Amino acid sequence: MNESSEFSLIQRYFSNFMVEREDVIVGVGDDCAVLQTPDNKLTAVSIDTLVQDVHFFADVDPYRLGVKALAVNLSDLAAMGAEPAWFTLALSLPDIQHEWLQAFSAGLADMARQHQIALVGGDTTRGPLTVTIQVHGHVAAGKFLRRNAAKAADLICVTGFLGDAAAGLQYKLGQLNEAVLSAADQQYLVQRLEMPTPRNHIGQQLVGKAHAAIDISDGLLADLQHILNASNKGACINLAALPLSDSLRKLPLPLANQLALTGGEDYELCFTASAENVDELSQQFPGMIHIIGEVNAETGIYYRDAQGNRQRFSAIKAGYDHFSS
Ligand code: ADP
Ligand code: MG
Repeated sequence: MNESSEFSLIQRYFSNFMVEREDVIVGVGDDCAVLQTPDNKLTAVSIDTLVQDVHFFADVDPYRLGVKALAVNLSDLAAMGAEPAWFTLALSLPDIQHEWLQAFSAGLADMARQHQIALVGGDTTRGPLTVTIQVHGHVAAGKFLRRNAAKAADLICVTGFLGDAAAGLQYKLGQLNEAVLSAADQQYLVQRLEMPTPRNHIGQQLVGKAHAAIDISDGLLADLQHILNASNKGACINLAALPLSDSLRKLPLPLANQLALTGGEDYELCFTASAENVDELSQQFPGMIHIIGEVNAETGIYYRDAQGNRQRFSAIKAGYDHFSS
C-alpha cells in the first residue's frame, strides 16, 4: 500500500474518533501511543487474530466483523475481571474498499463506545484479510480472576445461553434441519455467532466473588477443563441445567446439549464461586447467571443425566458421541 493512501485511510477510518480517554496522552498518529496507567493498577493484555476463511466467511457483514473482532478480545478482559482501557488494531487488507472500511470501523466504534475502550494505534498493510486486535485493561493488584483457584464444592456457573453460536455456524454451513427453525430463530443464531456480547460488566463484578473464571471460546467442556486442570479439580455438570435459548431448544435435545457442551464462540463466562456469592451475583444480574454444576475435589468431569445418575465424560469426544446417539 503506498504511503499516502495508507495514511489517509487511517485518518479516515481509524483515528481518534471512537472513544476519548484522558489517559491517552498520545493516540493514533505518532510512532507510538503513550498511555497513562493509573496509580496502583496493573495492566492486563491480550491479543486475538481473526483470519478470513478460518474465523469468518469472506462475505461476512463488515459491520459485524468489526463488532466481533473487538468483542472476542474484550471477552478475554472480562474473564480476568479487567476494566477495558485501550486497544490497537493490525489490519491486513487485500485492497481498499471504502464501503467495507466504513462499515467495519462503524462496528468497531460501536463496540468500543459500549465498553469505553480507546483505539490508540495499529498497523495497516496489504495482504489477505486479517484483523488482529490487542486489548489492554486495568486490574488492581491481587484483584483479578484466574483459572487456577476453583475450590471443591464451588458452584459452576455460566452467563447467558450456550450453543447458540455453534448452531448459527451449523446453520450457515447448511448442516441444520432448517425446517424446525423460524426465520427469527435463524437470524438470532447467526447473530450470536457474528456479534457476540462480551460480559465485561459481569466479569468485573466477579472479582472478589468468583474463585476461578474463563471465557467460553472453544466450548464449555474444553474451557471448563482449563479451569479444572489449572485448579487440579474435577466437576459434575447437571445436563438439565444447561442454559439453552428458545431458538436452540427447537433443535433435538441431544443436538442442543451437544452444541451447548462442545460448540465454540459463545463468549459467555464460566466461573466457579461459593453458593453464597452465586446468590448475590444472581440478584445483581437477574436471569444472566446459570448454575450448571459443581466442583469436585477429585479430577475428572462427570455429568448428571436426566434420571439424575452420575455418568463419566470419559473424554470430551466420548461425551460428544454420547449426545449424538
Ligand atoms: P510507522 O510506520 O511509524 O509504524 P504507521 O504509518 O504504520 O507508522 O502508522 C501511523 C500511525 O497510524 C501510528 O500512530 C499507528 O499506530 C496508526 N495506525 C496505523 N494503522 C492503524 C490502524 N489500523 N488502526 C489504528 N491506528 C493505526
Ligand atoms: Mg507501521
